Amino acid sequence: MSKSPASAAHYRPETRLVHSGTLRSQYGETSEALFLTQGYVYNSAEECEARFKGEDPGFIYSRYSNPTIAMFERRMIELEGAEAARSAATGMAAVTTAILAPLKAGDHVVASRALFGSCLYVVQDLLPRYGIETTLVDGLDLDQWKRALRKNTKTFFLESPTNPTLDVLDIPAIADIAHSGGARLVVDNVFATPIWQSPLALGADVVVYSATKHIDGQGRCLGGIILSSEAFIAEHIHNFMRQTGPSISPFNAWVLLKGLETLGVRVRAQTDTAGRIAEALASHPKISRLIYPGRADHPQADLVKKQMRGGSTLVGFEVKGGKQAAFRVLNALKLARISNNLGDAKSLVTHPATTTHQRLKPEDRAALGISEGFIRFSTGLEHADDLIEDLAAALEKA
Ligand SMILES: *Cc1c(COP(=O)(O)O)cnc(C)c1O
Repeated sequence: MSKSPASAAHYRPETRLVHSGTLRSQYGETSEALFLTQGYVYNSAEECEARFKGEDPGFIYSRYSNPTIAMFERRMIELEGAEAARSAATGMAAVTTAILAPLKAGDHVVASRALFGSCLYVVQDLLPRYGIETTLVDGLDLDQWKRALRKNTKTFFLESPTNPTLDVLDIPAIADIAHSGGARLVVDNVFATPIWQSPLALGADVVVYSATKHIDGQGRCLGGIILSSEAFIAEHIHNFMRQTGPSISPFNAWVLLKGLETLGVRVRAQTDTAGRIAEALASHPKISRLIYPGRADHPQADLVKKQMRGGSTLVGFEVKGGKQAAFRVLNALKLARISNNLGDAKSLVTHPATTTHQRLKPEDRAALGISEGFIRFSTGLEHADDLIEDLAAALEKA
């Protein structure tokens, strides 16, 4: 087996998704091999010593690295245009590590309030327990980011588009504010996917993914990844992950690696369909608000054009009549299934107020625009007309 993964970095993204990082064994397999091994054996005590000294670049233990995991990381590095990456067992393991690993008591974190529930827990509940102060801001208001910046601010953290209201935050402007105070910007890019948005190229310092979502995209396994500069990974992430162990299973890394091969075609098809659904729902009499980042009536439509290459696989809409009407729509859908997941080949529908954002106080939900009638629709790979017909029939029941 060649020691360093084959590079396809100079090809276009579609090609990189299929070829980047492939390491072939002596058998010349077409599809990437799954190395289900915890550890490695050495030909001699001298080779083993050299491996541990870092003089021989082979593998030591799968908590640190593994050939299948290395292939997944390399493919993501080349797709994202990062220098280095470390994958993790889940998206939350990646987020928690990216935020916590570089910090110490007395540091300060600023984050956009519109966060995935568990990300909000890490920032709002977990960090303060270890003496790390946090400030939550309205991510759309650049003045709030500026005012929150302090001498001890080390990290800005945001998601864009946000969950579930699909607001788009100005990544280059927020990165500039962070850098003006010597802080780094960490972006959770799950909703945009690497197909439509490249936060590192927009000025962010670190990008994190829940690979559980579009990267797997077929509802099979959990995973996460942190991508950044060589220096950030080496200084802050590598040793933390190696010693604390939120490592991904090689099996899951293999599923995600194979998921990447079809990520581009899936996300494009899901986005096209989502756009058609948004168009069909936009003037529907039972809907009071429709949010879709690919439309001219999106509140940050100019920003979407500037920093994203495409819209979204998600559509947000508010049905008239509150929770009861929203529940009637969810219960009447035949194709789209009720779930809290997203980015799947199967269309999934979520009522954020009673699920993902249930933990929030009603006034905090209202501030985020998550009303009782709000529904998040994750578009799958079904035919657009079938989904539109399913939604139209269900809305009759609202
Ligand atoms: C799902 C999700 C996560 C967490 O990922 P897991 O793989 O479920 O741990 C983090 N951020 C966002 C935006 C998500 O959608």
